[in-house]
Amino acid sequence: MALLIGLTGGIGSGKTTVAGMLQELGGYVIDADLLCRELVRPDEPAWREIVGHFGDSILNSDRTLNRARLGDVVFRDPAEKQVLESILHPRVFEEEERRFAGIVRNDPEALVFIDAALLIESGNYRKVDKVIVVAGDRQTQLENSLKKGFLRREEIERRIENQMKVEDKLAYADFIIRNDGDLQLLKQNVRRVFEDLKALNK
Ligand code: ATP
Repeated sequence: MALLIGLTGGIGSGKTTVAGMLQELGGYVIDADLLCRELVRPDEPAWREIVGHFGDSILNSDRTLNRARLGDVVFRDPAEKQVLESILHPRVFEEEERRFAGIVRNDPEALVFIDAALLIESGNYRKVDKVIVVAGDRQTQLENSLKKGFLRREEIERRIENQMKVEDKLAYADFIIRNDGDLQLLKQNVRRVFEDLKALNK
């Protein structure tokens, strides 16, 4: 029996690194963020709904969404954030399920992982078979995020503050992958969870 497994954790916790390791072990990975970007391309149904609600001012000149401007609007107003999420989250999960079904048609025992930062906040954790939370301490999260080089320290700290706390996410976890040490240790932790999941779907 195939399994659909949500993989989540805070910013810089190592989700994508873990996803890569799971893939090396034979798992399939669906990147929720990438999928979301595809769903909001100009003239897609989700794009139409977003523009219908938020107006043209959240568009770039090439009609793509201006994520920074949209982010600003929803950051300031929780009701607007809810509107955006109610447009995106169900569609993202629908597409994830569609892709899952496609993978399972070819591999009935597939272990399929969704790399989704907002798995728990979106409520989509209820729809997967198992939840993995990748957790490191705050300092590791900060250092990992700095390594990526996209965000400044203050911005990373602000995001860590505004995100759901890692300790709260752990309450939803069927499996916890600690990521406080080196990559070798992380690989061992990932392998252990992968083997447990394989045993489950026998
Ligand atoms: P984001 O929240 O930005 O999506 P993420 O949780 O997916 O991040 P990754 O992209 O996997 O995190 O990791 C962030 C950076 O930290 C990457 O450069 C990755 O190589 C590095 N990293 C993650 N875990 C470790 C580790 N145990 N040892 C060394 N580097 C690590």
